[in-house]
Amino acid sequence: MIEGDVKTIIERFEGDEGFSGKAVLVTGGAGFLGSWLCDVLIELGARVYCVDNFASGRWENISHLASEENFVFIEHDVSKPLEIKEKLDFIFHFASRASPFEFEHYPLEIIDANTLGTRNMLELARKNDARFIFASTSEIYGQPDVVPTPETYWGYVNPIGIRSCYDESKRLGETITMAYHRQYGVDVRIVRIFNTYGPRMRADGVYGRVVPRFISQALNREPITVFGDGSQTRSFCYVTDLITGVLKFAVLENGNGEVVNLGNPREVSILELAHIIKKLTNSDSPIEFHPLPPDDPPRRCPDISKAQKLLNWKPKVELEEGLKKTIEWYKGEI
Ligand code: UDP
Repeated sequence: MIEGDVKTIIERFEGDEGFSGKAVLVTGGAGFLGSWLCDVLIELGARVYCVDNFASGRWENISHLASEENFVFIEHDVSKPLEIKEKLDFIFHFASRASPFEFEHYPLEIIDANTLGTRNMLELARKNDARFIFASTSEIYGQPDVVPTPETYWGYVNPIGIRSCYDESKRLGETITMAYHRQYGVDVRIVRIFNTYGPRMRADGVYGRVVPRFISQALNREPITVFGDGSQTRSFCYVTDLITGVLKFAVLENGNGEVVNLGNPREVSILELAHIIKKLTNSDSPIEFHPLPPDDPPRRCPDISKAQKLLNWKPKVELEEGLKKTIEWYKGEI
């Protein structure tokens, strides 16, 4: 299934020559999005340096690439400086824990990956004259009062809240990225990624985000745990759509210094999501209500008009279709 999806990304990307023969570093390369990037880049003929410290990434996500001549794995924590012998052309900085449960347990590691890690990878980009793509997040908007949220919205963030280790460090990551752009002229691009789901997303323990948690609960006939009354919303983008957008942005001629939202603009409530997953899995799991975690954003939905115009991109995979694929993949895992 993943091979088929990689082909779909390549067909939609239409920019093969952009990465062929190029040296590309992917931090967080053993993670959910990072491993998809590695797969596609190898297929496009790039030489891929995959960096991960397995904080939340998994070897299983990339083990199939280990035998590829053009794939180099480096176990490394991005909060420490990194040197690569070959001259790099692109750096995708995607290393960070991203699950709200992890925010509680690993706030300092998250801050380090997004601040020190971003600076270290920008330093590497500066030395190599490489293009730098920073994986930012919809979390930088906090609890926005403008929804769908455009890139011009500055954010409404609780700086001392439980989520601040992620929100604020990604915000500072964006700031450091723009500082390297302004002070050293590094070619940078910031992508604000909204909720994304698909194969390889972890369902276990503190790593589990809502989609894999609901799918594994439904498949195991355990109660589906809705936090709060489930009226909070998210907008879920299937991984192939997201990766296509990231690659289009990375090779865009006039993308230097730009920031772009990438995500699916269909907004659904979490209770609605629970019902959709229950139906698609034919599950008789009961829906169980639990307390809403502090500072959980009540609404999240991207305004993607900038990405549509700049990249000629919009998501193509309907939620039900993406969930069906994801469910099939988890059936093989569980
Ligand atoms: N959520 C839920 N039950 C769960 C896990 C998450 O109701 O078992 C809710 C969570 O409170 C949030 C939404 O689902 O409102 C999305 O959570 P996720 O962990 O995927 O990440 P977030 O979008 O909050 O960063």
